[in-house]
Amino acid sequence: MEHITGPIYLLRGPYFEFPYCHCLLVKDERCCLIDTAMMPRQLQEVKDSVHIDFILSTHGHLDHTHNIASFTEPVYIHPAEDVWLESPQTFMEAFGFSQHGRRDLGQLFMELGGWQQRLPDGHFQPGQVFELGQTRLQVMHLPGHTPGHCGFFFLDQGILFTADIDLTGFGPFYGTAVSDLDDFIASLNFLIELQPEMIIPGHGRGAVRSDVRQRLQEFRDVIFRREDELMARLKRAGQATLSQIVSWKVVYSQYGYPAEHESFYAMMEEYMDINHLNRLVREGKILQDEDIYIVR
Ligand SMILES: [Zn+2]
Repeated sequence: MEHITGPIYLLRGPYFEFPYCHCLLVKDERCCLIDTAMMPRQLQEVKDSVHIDFILSTHGHLDHTHNIASFTEPVYIHPAEDVWLESPQTFMEAFGFSQHGRRDLGQLFMELGGWQQRLPDGHFQPGQVFELGQTRLQVMHLPGHTPGHCGFFFLDQGILFTADIDLTGFGPFYGTAVSDLDDFIASLNFLIELQPEMIIPGHGRGAVRSDVRQRLQEFRDVIFRREDELMARLKRAGQATLSQIVSWKVVYSQYGYPAEHESFYAMMEEYMDINHLNRLVREGKILQDEDIYIVR
């Protein structure tokens, strides 16, 4: 357990390893755990040493909700995130496995992530403040990655837990059926303006204590670089079908689509590409004719 400041502790997960994330423990008069996807050794430590009053969940992805069924304490989440917890069917639809006829892949993914049904005990609302004692924790709705993705802002310490606005080389991630790229960009712009003193992402190297604004801008600009690259490829081709565009691997080329995960990466690439293509259509840069995208 890594001490951040006051009653705030970081349960540091791996840099990026499914299904784990960094979790936060606030050992105040009321003790609050933020996200549950910690490693087995940490889970044991937390269960043995701390009385938790309630759990706040940033969003419903498995690498944030792993272990959640092992907690009996009340769990609160944004209402739009229930789909990930309700049933295998709603999970697969939200991720996009159902639409792609990839239920087997979805099942495997859910097994790896240790999915278990655990409905939340209640919902929080954007802007809601939890008074814990010394600390006040405000819900920051940061949609895009998922519709109900939230960060938590320690109002008195200026520290923001940003979950999957994670500043890692894998992100920004908007590769599921319910992701929304415009929302993601708006969330990043909001954080850039907010200028928190410190952010703690849900993956990566841990707390970011300096150049926070610059790091957020760089993370956002990855999105624009991907879009420029996609547009450049489209201009060279003049027009292309969605499956041709997906085969360009504009987003995930650097991972080389590991053979054993080929169809999983291709699915995420498709959702990421569709997000960019929809933006380019709205901006009037390209036209869509059913499955074909045409440069204007
Ligand atoms: Zn996520």
